[in-house]
Amino acid sequence: MSMKILGIDLAGVENRDSGVCLLDEELNAEVFSLKSDDEIISLIMKTRPDVIAIDAPLSIPLGRCCLRDKCSCKNKGHLRECDRALLKMKIKFFPVTLGPMRKLTERGMRLKEIIEGKGFKVIEVYPGGAQDMLGIPRKKKGIDELRKGLLKMGIKGISKVKSHDELDAVTSALVGKMFFEDDYLALGNPEEGLIIMPKRSNAWSLT
Ligand SMILES: [Zn+2]
Repeated sequence: MSMKILGIDLAGVENRDSGVCLLDEELNAEVFSLKSDDEIISLIMKTRPDVIAIDAPLSIPLGRCCLRDKCSCKNKGHLRECDRALLKMKIKFFPVTLGPMRKLTERGMRLKEIIEGKGFKVIEVYPGGAQDMLGIPRKKKGIDELRKGLLKMGIKGISKVKSHDELDAVTSALVGKMFFEDDYLALGNPEEGLIIMPKRSNAWSLT
């Protein structure tokens, strides 16, 4: 049995491209974009990945029932324990309650439920943070630098990839592979929701 990991850089809405990467144990990457939940789900049913690593928040702070400002659960705050761990590590991110992140979080949670319901393993990843930890330039430094960093990690088949979202999907799949191989860091409270990160660290010392 060969390993197959699916990385998804999820867009907040179904009419925008979500970057997708299928990665095998030799680090061959197949990269493209999809739009709707249905397209994503049929890809999963067709390819049956061992791990599906999604770049989107897949949970909300413990004690909250929603992300609405008008709900009384608002007093449970804006951050999850995994988000606080990112803060401590000085890794920049957008909290789940911030404007456009709400839609993304809702879509991520909905997809996770559907995919898990079909018996697949789903993890939350954060490619920007993973890139920080692996010493790979984030996309704001330029797409060529990000691609170069991923090529240096040994990923094959991405020399023609020109989309940031697709390269973040590649990074997501790479973290999914680390999870599959039991070589990862899990941030946060499992009761609430974890972010899976690389264990290896070029940029930070995690003691
Ligand atoms: Zn609520």
